Amino acid sequence: MDADLCIVGGGPAGMVAGLLFARAGVPTTVLEKHSDFLRDFRGDTVHPSTLRIFSELGLLDRLLERPHDKVRDIQGVIGGRHVALADFTPFDPRWNFIAMMPQWDFLDFVADEASVYPHFTLIRDAEATDLVVEDGRIAGVRYEAGGQSLTVSARLTIAADGRSSRMRAAAGLPVRDLGAPMDVFWFRVPRERSGNNETTGVFASGRIMAMIDRGDYWQCAYVFPKGSEDEVRARGIEAFRTEVAGLAPTLRERIGAVQSWDDVKLLSVSLDRLEQWHRPGLLVIGDAAHAMTPIGGVGINVAVQDAVAAANALAGPMAAGEDVDRLLGRVQKRRLPAVRITQRFQKTAQDRIINRLLMRQGGDFEPPRALRWLDRYPVLRRIPAALIGFGYRPEHVRSPEARQARQSHPSP
Ligand SMILES: Cc1cc2nc3c(=O)[nH]c(=O)nc-3n(C[C@H](O)[C@H](O)[C@H](O)COP(=O)(O)OP(=O)(O)OC[C@H]3O[C@@H](n4cnc5c(N)ncnc54)[C@H](O)[C@@H]3O)c2cc1C
Repeated sequence: MDADLCIVGGGPAGMVAGLLFARAGVPTTVLEKHSDFLRDFRGDTVHPSTLRIFSELGLLDRLLERPHDKVRDIQGVIGGRHVALADFTPFDPRWNFIAMMPQWDFLDFVADEASVYPHFTLIRDAEATDLVVEDGRIAGVRYEAGGQSLTVSARLTIAADGRSSRMRAAAGLPVRDLGAPMDVFWFRVPRERSGNNETTGVFASGRIMAMIDRGDYWQCAYVFPKGSEDEVRARGIEAFRTEVAGLAPTLRERIGAVQSWDDVKLLSVSLDRLEQWHRPGLLVIGDAAHAMTPIGGVGINVAVQDAVAAANALAGPMAAGEDVDRLLGRVQKRRLPAVRITQRFQKTAQDRIINRLLMRQGGDFEPPRALRWLDRYPVLRRIPAALIGFGYRPEHVRSPEARQARQSHPSP
């Protein structure tokens, strides 16, 4: 099989890249190893930067027809005190919120919009196993589907296969580990629906927990020091339930829904990146190029930014039949500084706040002074909102839409 572009991985980075390159008229094939987008919780936060990109594509209204809640500010309980932390309302009303949208709904939407373009092919149940190398250049991908070993030949391969990327390993691109002091247990606790999205975080001595409001249940993230998983489990599920209920009394009534450790999933948090994102014929984007920690909930959005930057630099020239190997460095040059700054911010928060808090052994504490100022002066809350919502150097869509690339839109 031949494609101009083969994308490995149908996550946020790969699907948005697929949409943009197909829109520009580049024959694009996306290989996704799963049969659908329904998978374990992977984060729900579609940030203002991503909403603006969909607005630039003329797709925002349709995106927001999918199930979502709007979060216009972020609050937390720090040392027992409610603190307002970020306020998105001063931004443009079209994207002055975080859309809490299950990732499978977001990906389904992007797949539907991409399938409008005849140049777009998504192959599910297709697991990439290796890169095809010809004369030192990546010339496509080997994959397994339906029990067969197959090959896609491509002028360019984009590896968007997530943080355990097999493609970057096959390309021999070294990963720089920046270290993350924490791991996370994820679990669900049922709740009554309320009118507002009540997503919040609880920061106490030695313990941190995020509670993501998903309508009829809380998606909870219990944060603990890396390496102490066995210790937490050894205390028993009853002790875990008691600790969680003590941390967040609203969960007390229904915490019994966490019946055993089978209901609790581990996320091993990592913070890493490639310093080199490309080789002739190959570009790496999204988590495959840089795993982010959950701090700020930025992973999806940084992955989408990479996809937009890649399409901005490469889609037009590819559609015109140009060789783009010499342009791959531009994507890295554009995105690596933004990734470095975001990761530095995450590392500072990790070392100065999360780690210190996790190491505390009981006792009261005051929220740090900077957070008290955010609580006291509403205007300051725009700063974290801008950092979280847009990040450094947000992208705009500059890749073309090829004339007549679009088929008629499928009826809803
Ligand atoms: C538990 C959890 C909670 C998170 N919470 C948030 C949050 O609240 N907000 C946020 O912004 N981010 C969050 N993240 C991070 C976010 O999910 C990622 O940063 C984001 O999904 C990265 O997108 P991606 O497309 O680069 O990679 P991924 O989403 O990992 O997508 C990679 C895709 O490649 C496919 N794939 C992998 N290998 C192959 C192969 N060999 N062949 C074919 N296909 C392959 C995978 O099936 C997957 O679909 C969370 C992550 C986890 C694990």
